Amino acid sequence: MARVVVLGAGISGHTAAAFLRKKLSKKHEVVVISPSAYYEWIPSNIWVGVGRMKQKQVRFKLDKVYKRWKIQFHQAKAISIHPEGNAEHKKAFVKSVYSTGDQQGQEFVVEYDYLINATGPKLNFEATEGLGPGKNSHSVCSSSHAVESWNALKQIFEAAERGEHKKILVGTGHGSATCQGAAFEYTLNIAAEAKRRKILDKLDITWITNEYELGDFGMGGAYIKQNGYVVPTKVFTESILAEFGIKWIKRAGVYKLEPGVAHFELLDGTKDSIEFDFSMLIPAFAGSGITAFGKDDEDITAKLFMSNGFMKVDADYTPKEFEEYSVEDWPETYQSPEYENIFAIGIAFAPPHPISKPMKSVNGTPISPAPPRTGMPSGVTGKTTALNIAAKIEYNRSEIAHKASMGRMGAACIVSAGYGLFNGMAATMTVNPIVPDWENYPKYGRKINYTVGEMGLAGHWMKLSLHYMFLHKAKGYPFWWLIPE
Ligand SMILES: Cc1cc2nc3c(=O)[nH]c(=O)nc-3n(C[C@H](O)[C@H](O)[C@H](O)COP(=O)(O)OP(=O)(O)OC[C@H]3O[C@@H](n4cnc5c(N)ncnc54)[C@H](O)[C@@H]3O)c2cc1C
Repeated sequence: MARVVVLGAGISGHTAAAFLRKKLSKKHEVVVISPSAYYEWIPSNIWVGVGRMKQKQVRFKLDKVYKRWKIQFHQAKAISIHPEGNAEHKKAFVKSVYSTGDQQGQEFVVEYDYLINATGPKLNFEATEGLGPGKNSHSVCSSSHAVESWNALKQIFEAAERGEHKKILVGTGHGSATCQGAAFEYTLNIAAEAKRRKILDKLDITWITNEYELGDFGMGGAYIKQNGYVVPTKVFTESILAEFGIKWIKRAGVYKLEPGVAHFELLDGTKDSIEFDFSMLIPAFAGSGITAFGKDDEDITAKLFMSNGFMKVDADYTPKEFEEYSVEDWPETYQSPEYENIFAIGIAFAPPHPISKPMKSVNGTPISPAPPRTGMPSGVTGKTTALNIAAKIEYNRSEIAHKASMGRMGAACIVSAGYGLFNGMAATMTVNPIVPDWENYPKYGRKINYTVGEMGLAGHWMKLSLHYMFLHKAKGYPFWWLIPE
């Protein structure tokens, strides 16, 4: 009997657990440890944040699904990994703390044969003074944050409906934040919702970003094929913002928020501030903060994790200049180089370096996007890791057959720009590969025929159908495994 423990039940962890259970015979155990009772389809939080979806439409309770699948579920937070066991435990184990019920706060240990770290990002609001829910800005990074965002935004809309002018600021809340796509999507949805309510002229909306040029999205921008023409994402993105009358501030690192004011530094070193009545700013991300200990309980956290808390995998972490970045630096097995039975998937793995060119202001402040790891690669790395572990357990395979480098896979990104069956709108972008490969595609860095962008109602339908399809898949409804990641 082998036991696989999955830490985290988000897009990557839940996918991994589902495929492990499907591939492994019943004598083997799959255990999921995650602090929330819910699975959340995070991309649809955007619609919760503009009041077009309810929280219950984007999440469901995990226990029922896991009971049906015969997966053991502990609603708990992992705190430390012990890959060599210790004096008390011969086998490798993970220590966690229950986050609910009578056992809340109680620590417990689960031994493992294989461990998957799928703990996603820690929303590092603390990295920017005054940032985040309960302080001076909002977030849509969890469905609860999105509900709070909508409650605040609704008041702004109501004031605008009474004829008042209001200022809205959306974007990145730290010089090194990523997830520009999500923030950009929220900006467009606010504008589209305001247009639907006929109050767009009462709102002064500003997009603030750490990107050097708009449309960078943390992947160094892209050339996309649109209506037969090759267009840089800069032009594509700027024209969408212009269509809604949204202003923008680029090359900005937000470093401090006070009530109604965001302070930022620009790449040229100048400092400025902007006032707002409502603001949604994405925080910097860090790893979840799990520690690691060796056989004698000595701290080996630095052996498993980078200093930002993301887990080291089979990437090439040698420090390099931007000009030397290569797709070959990116991981493809997600296996820890130190312990072959540990893997990190989704956002939890440490990328080798950014994709966008790293930049610093003249004062030395880093102001450029960290690399994004969107839903599609998170799902794909979850599935391939599950298949690899299942092959090891069931067939004793020593080598890793399934590989999934972000330098080889494509990703589809649908940026919704308004909700509605007949008047919805979305910008659909596909990039292939995600990490540009200048060796194989010297002209554009990507396969230009698979790197396309379109704006229209069809994109909205696609985004809406993905919402229902992915929730169908996550709930394990009939033929769930046929739906791609
Ligand atoms: C607002 C928003 C919109 C987005 N829209 C899109 C989109 O349209 N398309 C797209 O492709 N991507 C989108 N993304 C990105 C996408 O949501 C992420 O790529 C994806 O969720 C990452 O999956 P993950 O499994 O790595 O992390 P998550 O989905 O964040 O899951 C992490 C899991 O780990 C758990 N966890 C945390 N700490 C611990 C711990 N110590 N122990 C155990 N468990 C722990 C969490 O509770 C959670 O269950 C969006 C992101 C945001 C914030």
